[in-house]
Amino acid sequence: MGLTVVGSIALDTVETSAGKNADGLGGAATYFALAASHYTQVHLVGVVGDDFPQEHIDLLGAKGIDIEGLERVEGKTFRWSGRYHDNINARDTLDTQLNVFEHFKPELPEAAKNAKYLFLGNIHPSLQLEVLRQARPEFVALDTMNLWIDTTRKELEEALAKIDCLIINDEEIFELTGERNLVRGVHKIQDMGPSIVAPKKGQHGCLLFVKNKIFSAPAFPMAEVIDPTGAGDTFAGGFMGYIAQQDSVDYDTLKRAVIHGSVVASYTCEEFSVDRIALVTQEDIDRRFDAFVDLSRF
Ligand code: AMP
Repeated sequence: MGLTVVGSIALDTVETSAGKNADGLGGAATYFALAASHYTQVHLVGVVGDDFPQEHIDLLGAKGIDIEGLERVEGKTFRWSGRYHDNINARDTLDTQLNVFEHFKPELPEAAKNAKYLFLGNIHPSLQLEVLRQARPEFVALDTMNLWIDTTRKELEEALAKIDCLIINDEEIFELTGERNLVRGVHKIQDMGPSIVAPKKGQHGCLLFVKNKIFSAPAFPMAEVIDPTGAGDTFAGGFMGYIAQQDSVDYDTLKRAVIHGSVVASYTCEEFSVDRIALVTQEDIDRRFDAFVDLSRF
């Protein structure tokens, strides 16, 4: 079975109203893998530089994540820095240094190629297409961002035609489709390829469109958000991890997967970097899953 993720592994410097955290472990693939490792065997594919602390690699290994596809090359690790507004839903990117990520050419080891489930993190669409050429998955989800929608639309559309599920935020839907109405925007995306679309709405939760069905999940109401960086990637990790664990993409499984994604994403927001998600236990997941059921059942 198994689940492969390809994406950024980063050192993030983040400022929120709770303070500042410099050079913390981050990156979309990191958050995804830590979340998904609770559910299934994860194969991580990415690149770091020779400045990447060994303790981070040890952490990923200790979580049972297969790091054969984690390249370590000469140079500096990808760095991203951001500052959140008082409204924690909004942030400014202060700096992005691609460093070793600039020349990243994903090379999937055999186990990563053979995984039944694949998540293409937010990287250049031509790299996402390269991964699709190498891998033999049965179910593929993809994440993207405004930059790729604006600058590499042709490659992105080529990738969208080949995938099953798009995880995206609502602003990006508008950017991709020109459609200000979310439902109509999602329908346009479904016409481009993925039959499943999960629009993330930050602290307002997430929707799930599966063909002509729609499911709505809240975000876990939190009195204090320390750092929401990586919440979207953690969501994707819980969502895909649960699907891979259940080895099913029927509608009921997909709905529960959205709740699992929301559960793990809420933990990521409780501390800077991966400090909370790295400590989450099965019991934490079960407890918050039950709280979600209470929250939304009527
Ligand atoms: P999120 O908060 O879900 O948007 O994810 C933030 C994570 O994405 C951070 O840990 C960053 O290191 C990473 N990130 C930010 N910009 C990029 C980019 N251009 N390409 C890949 N990863 C990025």
